[in-house]
Amino acid sequence: MLITRTIAETRAAIAQARAQGKRIGFVPTMGYLHEGHLQLIDIAKEHSDFVVVSIFVNPTQFGPHEDFAAYPRDFERDRRLCEARGADLIFAPEVSEMYPERSLITFQIEKLADHLCGARRPGHFNGVVLVVSKLFNIIQPDVAVFGQKDAQQLIIIKRLVHDLNFPVRIIAAPTVRESDGLAMSSRNVYLSAEQRAQSPVLYRALQRAKALVESGERDARKIIAEMQQLIATASEAKIDYIEIVSTKDLQPVERLDGQVLIALAVYFGKARLIDNIILEISGAHVREIAALP
Ligand code: AMP
Repeated sequence: MLITRTIAETRAAIAQARAQGKRIGFVPTMGYLHEGHLQLIDIAKEHSDFVVVSIFVNPTQFGPHEDFAAYPRDFERDRRLCEARGADLIFAPEVSEMYPERSLITFQIEKLADHLCGARRPGHFNGVVLVVSKLFNIIQPDVAVFGQKDAQQLIIIKRLVHDLNFPVRIIAAPTVRESDGLAMSSRNVYLSAEQRAQSPVLYRALQRAKALVESGERDARKIIAEMQQLIATASEAKIDYIEIVSTKDLQPVERLDGQVLIALAVYFGKARLIDNIILEISGAHVREIAALP
């Protein structure tokens, strides 16, 4: 497995793989890897012959009072995990390599960043779209794999690729959970023992929403109210948002129909945890979509 720190080395290594006729798969991450990330590597390997994992805590997607400095980092551990999982290259640039100066070109995202994390973290998705565009231009992958755990990010990236004609296929990966339902996240290390014990309430709230929809409930306000009530039973939980939006435009729905994203962000202490489910509703029929096509 190769490790590169500069854009020039990365381009040279990928050019060599391409010259051997290999298809390039790409898994962008911020490191501190867990099974959710490693599953993305497995999926990338199914669809390509040379898998690049980027490890870069991207400053432009953090707000001024967010956890950029505190974000957990352990390159040696990440290196071992990537190697064991069969990645071919880790691209782990310094901030100065990716941003030798502040980018004067930024993106404007209409509609898709109006709600959910986009509303709570102003500028976040601009930073995501900026770094992903740069990484796509550096790596020029045939396929790139993103987790549905970050559903808003996934939908915005799919639209970025569509609108800007990036020649890459985006593949969505289902959310990997701990055995008690907590979605895996690098930020779970922030949780105290008590907060960790309470945190599965998020998954239970999503399952409760699904059960309500399956039993015929279509009123978004009622479903959200039940989820709020359930989460309020966890003394450490502070709800940032619970929203139900259409997956088409990420705008809130009043009545559930078609494909909807039920998403939440909840603080446990300083850990802001996000989770979601996607349901496809057609008449009385309800189906959960683990990975958007
Ligand atoms: P991050 O390192 O948190 O920026 O995440 C990098 C990629 O891993 C993103 O595409 C995430 O959606 C994905 N990811 C993070 N956690 C999970 C998880 N529990 N299951 C599936 N994918 C995940």
